[in-house]
Amino acid sequence: MHRWLLKKGINIRYFMLVLVVLMIVLLPVTVNRSKDNTPRKQELSAGVLSEIPPAPPPGDRTEGNCVVTRDKENFAGKLPPAGPVEIIYRGNPDLMRVAITIDDGWNADMRILDLLKEWKIEWTAFLIGGRNLAESHPEFVKRIADSGGEVCNHTYSHSIMTGRDQAFVAGEIQNAQQAITRVTGKIYPYVRFCGGNCDAAALNWAAQEGYWVVNWTIDSEDTRKGITFEQQVNTILSSVRPGAILLFHFGGYNTYPVLATVIPEIQKRGYEVTSLSRVLEGTPYVLKNDKDKTDGGNDKSVSLFPVLPGVDENSGNGDPIE
Ligand SMILES: [Zn+2]
Repeated sequence: MHRWLLKKGINIRYFMLVLVVLMIVLLPVTVNRSKDNTPRKQELSAGVLSEIPPAPPPGDRTEGNCVVTRDKENFAGKLPPAGPVEIIYRGNPDLMRVAITIDDGWNADMRILDLLKEWKIEWTAFLIGGRNLAESHPEFVKRIADSGGEVCNHTYSHSIMTGRDQAFVAGEIQNAQQAITRVTGKIYPYVRFCGGNCDAAALNWAAQEGYWVVNWTIDSEDTRKGITFEQQVNTILSSVRPGAILLFHFGGYNTYPVLATVIPEIQKRGYEVTSLSRVLEGTPYVLKNDKDKTDGGNDKSVSLFPVLPGVDENSGNGDPIE
């Protein structure tokens, strides 16, 4: 080749120079092309993947006595209408169980949550949605759930539910539930109205929304100014019976020491101290699982309940602690 180049009269140094220049110019083009290939492949893969339809979100399911939902923003209508339509004052009298229910959320004594968690007690909170509670403090809602509490609905504004129209009652329930379910992902079929007060119309509208209205068997009287610890403990322990639903408040008088005293005493008497759902087992006031629906599921017929026995207009208005 050398000879051939000489024969042709081409200077070999000139030839080498051209060769080096060509290499410098062409090499980056080749490298760039190979780099270009990578993103093209990725785009192609992404294109193929995007053609596969996303898996449908798993449906809501009934778990224990609540609906668990993935869609935490649109839960209206997820509960079947509740029936029979009546106020619940007590759980199953055939079970040696007593329920702890704690209301509101204002001025919460956090030792209550620590105690129930430490003692591994299932229990039930009736939490207000608005008024600087569940909606403004999702961390409080989460802490209740983490402490073993089933978080139930205590309306959005804690208004008295007598003389209201359907839109008001339904809105109060739905708005509170949204603030709760956004955090817990769960919907329990229970609502407690402010002070336990409601009229027949509100009771029916709550049932249409899927909720039983739950009051209580024994009031700890922790919203009564001047009440003493001894009075509260005596009231509770003298009234305990199977299926009893006990009423407390997060910011009530003596609530923490009273709970710390009565829980072990009630357990010593052979009761399980537990949640509302647990004391309602075996009654008509529980959600039916899908497998139960063959025998009718929840009673879909919602009839007007004409008489509301025993609602004390002045008790437990829930605005207790200044
Ligand atoms: Zn209240």
